[in-house]
Amino acid sequence: MNEIVLSKPRHFNFRDAAPCADLKENDVRVRVRRIGVCGTDIHAYFGRQPFFTYPRVLGHELGVEVIETANHDPRLKPGTICAVEPYLNSPASQASRRGMTNCCENLNVLGVHIDGGMRPELVLPAHKLHTRESINIDQLALVETLCIGAHAVERGRPEPIDYCVVIGAGPIGLGCAAFARNHAGRVAVVDIQESRLAFCRDALGIPDTVDMGNACDTPLADRLRDISGCDLPSLIIDATGNARSMASCFDLAANGGRIVFAGLFQGDVSFHDPTFHRKELSILATRNATAQTFQSVMAAISSGKIDPEPWIGARVPFEEVPDKFAATVTTPGLIKAVIELN
Ligand SMILES: [Zn+2]
Repeated sequence: MNEIVLSKPRHFNFRDAAPCADLKENDVRVRVRRIGVCGTDIHAYFGRQPFFTYPRVLGHELGVEVIETANHDPRLKPGTICAVEPYLNSPASQASRRGMTNCCENLNVLGVHIDGGMRPELVLPAHKLHTRESINIDQLALVETLCIGAHAVERGRPEPIDYCVVIGAGPIGLGCAAFARNHAGRVAVVDIQESRLAFCRDALGIPDTVDMGNACDTPLADRLRDISGCDLPSLIIDATGNARSMASCFDLAANGGRIVFAGLFQGDVSFHDPTFHRKELSILATRNATAQTFQSVMAAISSGKIDPEPWIGARVPFEEVPDKFAATVTTPGLIKAVIELN
């Protein structure tokens, strides 16, 4: 059986996959059927991911099917389709003992720190598989990416009194907006690409968007006040990973506001401490997601509160990934590409 390995930036190769290890107690052997392509994969492919090591089998947004199980969970019968929580944590770590498995000190993320899902089969611990009837295999492949947005929103704890502004409408920002909308009184989305903002309005039903790509002399704070009638956002989720945008959140936030950094910037972000204190701001990081977030996202998909299928703008057969990956992921306006295995 073949797997696809990213041997160095811009070079995918097929190679023989090592046979799956024997199942230990609680292990499950799964067949990979869908792989969502993430910004992390794209950065790794183009060599823009600092600290990334090659060769690596990518793929952490996975829709899989159970083949064989050494676990006695009746939900995980052969043939059951599942989403994968790709964050393999050490249960004994301090963060894991406190329930924060998403930011375990010894975390191994499939497809990032260890080989991931661009291969026909994987062996995973049963508790990292999440299943729910009525969710199809395409939707399962998008659960992980939605969980990133959902966990950012959990960190920000929006309430009906909140005016939440999401800055950056890539897949993570769109996930943040989609879940924030279920809790905050008002949600607005800011981006520099009108096509993404159109997706927010049309597919997510969020009418309030700000296009910062247009030459516009009105400062963003004024445009955000226009949307609310006068208030500044009491919750800002920055999903840009851009240091300037992240630093500007301190000025844009309302007094007593909360800022969640969902995007990662590889360097220092500085802020004006008197502004931070005068406004009594809270600043929060967010990383990955927990098993609970997987459950709540799958409940939201199952109940129809969120439908990720319109996010899929391209499908690539597994066999064609080495040839088609670069052209597919750079398609203008694309939100999510999915790799398909039979
Ligand atoms: Zn991802």
